[in-house]
Amino acid sequence: MMERVYNFSPGPSMLAQSVLEKAQQEMVVYGNTGMSVMEMSHRSKMYTDIYDKTVADLRDLMNIPDTHEVLLLQGGATQQFSAIPLNLMVNGKADYIDSGNFAHLAAEEAKRYGEVNIVASSRDDVYTYIPDWKKGAFTPDADYVHITSNNTIYGTRYVELPEVNAPLVTDASSMILSEVMDVSKFGVIYAGAQKNIGPSGLCVVIVRKDLLGKAKDICPKLLNWEVQAKAGSMYNTPNTYGIYLAGLTFQWVKEMGGVAEMEKINIEKAALLYDFLDNSKLFKATAQKEFRSRMNVTFITGDADKDAAFVKAAAAEGLVNLKGHRSVGGMRASIYNAMPREGVVKLVDFMKKFEAENI
Ligand code: PMP
Repeated sequence: MMERVYNFSPGPSMLAQSVLEKAQQEMVVYGNTGMSVMEMSHRSKMYTDIYDKTVADLRDLMNIPDTHEVLLLQGGATQQFSAIPLNLMVNGKADYIDSGNFAHLAAEEAKRYGEVNIVASSRDDVYTYIPDWKKGAFTPDADYVHITSNNTIYGTRYVELPEVNAPLVTDASSMILSEVMDVSKFGVIYAGAQKNIGPSGLCVVIVRKDLLGKAKDICPKLLNWEVQAKAGSMYNTPNTYGIYLAGLTFQWVKEMGGVAEMEKINIEKAALLYDFLDNSKLFKATAQKEFRSRMNVTFITGDADKDAAFVKAAAAEGLVNLKGHRSVGGMRASIYNAMPREGVVKLVDFMKKFEAENI
């Protein structure tokens, strides 16, 4: 079998090796059930035990208070771009902070259902920073304020949360479980699974219970959080295998020491790259220093041909998927929880070598 590479993909991205191995061991026969998790009825006790443990472990890891419901849904983060206005727009007004392309798409979708006020935007500066929402005008009777905690394409993250009266809704797809979050500060936290949780096809939605029951009549049943909460996320057949794999990842994060420990490792991993970039004569980080992401490190050489040569040469060394998003070019190293420190060290060593040969 070919050796595993260090995969810097923005998502779907690396899973912990021990998670994959456990899934492999249990793939054909899970425990003493005589069948694969994929073959279990979602209503059977053997499966609901897996489901309940997955939710309990996530609650534990994120210290989710009883005030909040945990839903494990399908349709990715993008489906929540629609579910959010459909579930929350009682007054028909919402505030969005436009800090990246996914934030923009979320706002565009919400416009289909009500009035959307863009409080602040960094779109005109290719989203190289989190826009200054402190100078923006929030809507007094907004149903919610939407942010994107980490901007996957541009490599920026919120260092401070807006203090708002309306429920704060965040797209945490590319940062959930990478740093400690105070869940009580949020009305809704949602995240597609394919970065820090498990395979794609699953979306974690953590919603404050008092926000349930406000959905518009036209809200499809499957997108209605109250319906899903009452049905234990099983209004229809859920992504059973994806949920099982998420559960294995949650157990792995616990074994690693929990989210606070992951955060320490992530700060160190990101610093290895940024310290090198700040002293490099060839490479340059693209996100503004203050807002640098710990999960997606974006950089360029300033010469598109050199960028392409670097991405190609790195891949030959087993450092793959370093090409930046098609909309911005350059490079992006996504270093989620499952990227080991050694992968980042190997990348920095390779960048040093490439620099010495190309300067
Ligand atoms: N939001 C963010 C911050 C993302 O990074 C992504 C995907 N990379 C999405 C939303 C869209 O997620 P999905 O493909 O799960 O719908």
